[in-house]
Amino acid sequence: VIGMIVHEKQLIQQIRRAAEAGRSRRSVVTGIGDDCAVLRVPAGHEMLVTTDFSIENVHFRRDWDPPELIGRRCLTRGLSDIAAMGGEPVAAFLSLAVAADVPQKWVDRFLKGLLQLASEFDVPLAGGDTAQSATGIQADIVVVGSVPKGKAVLRSGAKVGDFIYVTGELGGAGAALARLRASQPVGAAYSKHAHPMPQLAVGQWLRRRGLASAMIDLSDGLSTDLEHICEESGVGAEIESALVPKAKVEGGKLVALDLTLHGGEDYELLFTSSGKVPAKVADVTVTRIGRIVRGSEMRMIGADGKSSKLKAAGWEHFKGNL
Ligand SMILES: [Mg+2]
Repeated sequence: VIGMIVHEKQLIQQIRRAAEAGRSRRSVVTGIGDDCAVLRVPAGHEMLVTTDFSIENVHFRRDWDPPELIGRRCLTRGLSDIAAMGGEPVAAFLSLAVAADVPQKWVDRFLKGLLQLASEFDVPLAGGDTAQSATGIQADIVVVGSVPKGKAVLRSGAKVGDFIYVTGELGGAGAALARLRASQPVGAAYSKHAHPMPQLAVGQWLRRRGLASAMIDLSDGLSTDLEHICEESGVGAEIESALVPKAKVEGGKLVALDLTLHGGEDYELLFTSSGKVPAKVADVTVTRIGRIVRGSEMRMIGADGKSSKLKAAGWEHFKGNL
């Protein structure tokens, strides 16, 4: 199919150009142009690998977001996972399947947004694959990172008595999605949605100081991601609703508590610590929102001081079908 030949040729050229730009990096020994990329992991480090789908009408809609943003968010998913381990990104790989009726312009702009974020964090796109899909767009991003041996921050390290922290403000991306679903415009006030940013510097800072006992990135929503930490660590958690930092949206209005608890795609970090955590790390606000307790239940203490069960009702549940 002609359409695909154009996509594929241009895409491979674009990835090749990006890979050549990153060739000076010592981490990429051989990028695109061979059967495999050859990556160098620093001495005394371990490798991190994460893979995330971005599927049209599951993770994004073409009529809701510009292609640059969809490309940026695609790579954000991967970089945010590396951040959550306290790691440093080494290289990214993109596999992209595009239907023949998707305009080349869309693919160009998608890549532009993805490569913009890659350059912000100096992460080379070191390879990828392309194919024609039967319908729509499916992107799979793989990000490889590295972390000093034995120092990756896992989900399983939370201990009873640790405090629970989040970076930034929550619910901004969920609020934007709610507006898009209601066919309302999403303006610049929804920066969390319009400009997703992986918190790599915060994750690395916490790992270097050994301050985070457990960590995860907030991709599915606080309630769901906190449940992952609780399950992996074999602990319970108690959140104070008044402490959860709410994103500001249009008119300086704060988002509803529900969105901070269950809205996804904020790409902030959620971590636990028994140490002294400063109010700001790498220029990002860090807020204590609760503590780790015995048991396996998540509870929320409301503004009235009453405690209720906090159920994981994150992204997948929350957003239903796009
Ligand atoms: Mg993650």
